Amino acid sequence: MITHSTELREELHAASVGFENASPSDIIRWAVGRFSPAAFACSFEDLVLLDVINRESSLVDVIFLDTKGHFPETHDFVATARARWGLSLVTTTPGPDAAEFPCGTAECCQRRKVDPLGRTLANYQVWFTSVKRADGPTRRDMPIVSWDEKFHLVKVNPLATWSDDDVAYYLRSQGLPEHPLWERGYASIGCAAVTEPPAPGADRRSGRWVGSDKEECGLHEG
Ligand code: SF4
Repeated sequence: MITHSTELREELHAASVGFENASPSDIIRWAVGRFSPAAFACSFEDLVLLDVINRESSLVDVIFLDTKGHFPETHDFVATARARWGLSLVTTTPGPDAAEFPCGTAECCQRRKVDPLGRTLANYQVWFTSVKRADGPTRRDMPIVSWDEKFHLVKVNPLATWSDDDVAYYLRSQGLPEHPLWERGYASIGCAAVTEPPAPGADRRSGRWVGSDKEECGLHEG
């Protein structure tokens, strides 16, 4: 548990502004040196941040949010990452009443993602995410470092300033495997029932919650 204060908020804001041109490695090193314990909620959409974190610190726990609605290919990709880095994952699962709430509703994501992650993050001082401003309009103002009002800990987005091209270059240059659904046109990958490939030219998250006006699962909204 970390105590929130005006001084801490000011420190985080100053760090965030100062990191606008920093590398993800520099940001991660600062965060794990300043706050502990640390966790990374990995979407397993791509393995960039997992790779950078593994290079910088062995002290970051990796969380997998198992909604019980993922594509089989996502579970295969998680297994690939586990084998590559010898990961000991912290896996969350939906609460017992999740099945009562249909896919696409706020309560479904709340019960399958937000609540389980919140219970897990209560054990940490800082969490990392792969959120990028380039993901779409709902994320374009995302700070690099901030106080997370929802989960009550420090939130760090080391890839906030990265573009899709930056991600593609890193994956290629490091020889990292890609999510098996990318070659079928998928971009942002969530639960199977509500994820489609985005239309040509549309932002990468536009294939999420197709047919509803939902744009975020609730993890990254204050
Ligand atoms: S994406 Fe759909 S199925 Fe998955 S947790 Fe959210 S609402 Fe539920």
